[in-house]
Amino acid sequence: MSIIKTIINKTCHSAVVIHKEQITPSTYHVRIKINGNSFKNYIPGQQLRIFVGIENIISLNDLVRTYSIWNYDEFRNEADLAICTFSNGQGAKWVKNLEPGNIIYFRGPEGKFTINPDADNHLFFGDISSLAHLYELNRHTGLSKTASGIVYSSSKTHYFDDIYPKRNFGFITASDNITDDIIAEITWNGIPKGNTTVYIAGETAFCVTLHNYFKKEHNFSAKQIKTKPFWHPDKKGLE
Ligand SMILES: Cc1cc2nc3c(=O)[nH]c(=O)nc-3n(C[C@H](O)[C@H](O)[C@H](O)COP(=O)(O)OP(=O)(O)OC[C@H]3O[C@@H](n4cnc5c(N)ncnc54)[C@H](O)[C@@H]3O)c2cc1C
Repeated sequence: MSIIKTIINKTCHSAVVIHKEQITPSTYHVRIKINGNSFKNYIPGQQLRIFVGIENIISLNDLVRTYSIWNYDEFRNEADLAICTFSNGQGAKWVKNLEPGNIIYFRGPEGKFTINPDADNHLFFGDISSLAHLYELNRHTGLSKTASGIVYSSSKTHYFDDIYPKRNFGFITASDNITDDIIAEITWNGIPKGNTTVYIAGETAFCVTLHNYFKKEHNFSAKQIKTKPFWHPDKKGLE
């Protein structure tokens, strides 16, 4: 066993894969049973840093990837993940080869792309790699709050329903300028009156454009716009 693998085994949290299912041509649903109490302070909207490259460590760039917690069942100490393969990178290869019974190692849960509890309305925007994260936020807005969302992809076949559906999100087939299409949709539907927070995730350029749109066109404050780039073209393993 390599030194790096030994250190990871000794210092990181672990879980056992108890279910794996391909739910769309590009996404796998993975359920893990967590060993220990690493999730005791879990906040919906956090993510794991999973060691996807420890079986054959060639490059540190391909060692760790970030995946959101789609759902956490605290009574069973089990978590669901939705892992996409659009990238064809190390994480995509790892999930294709993953099998029930495998042990996975991770850091976290961690992250601040979580619900703003002060908001009365929540709007979610992202791509398919952020869909599970947005679903988890959507389920934790609080009963009295309003929420809606729009996600996009090159084909509707990539879209999947939430694990415990609460509210549906709208879907847009990606064009050359997806942000214009989403802004047109927002203009058509209007922004809810009152205290609204928007959550924007996915590709960096998409996040930046929508962030600026809400800031400049709707005078949203920094606190009302939560943005989290999930991936950037030609960059591996964006955190
Ligand atoms: C906070 C956070 C939460 C995340 N949660 C999830 C999640 O729940 N599920 C999930 O599937 N992903 C999630 N991601 C995104 C995931 O970490 C990246 O897509 C990661 O790059 C995948 O690793 P990889 O080894 O497969 O590809 P990499 O080796 O990292 O990338 C290979 C190539 O593919 C490109 N690429 C990466 N992602 C995509 C994509 N989605 N579409 C098109 N091209 C891409 C890269 O730019 C690069 O050129 C999350 C990211 C962050 C920051």
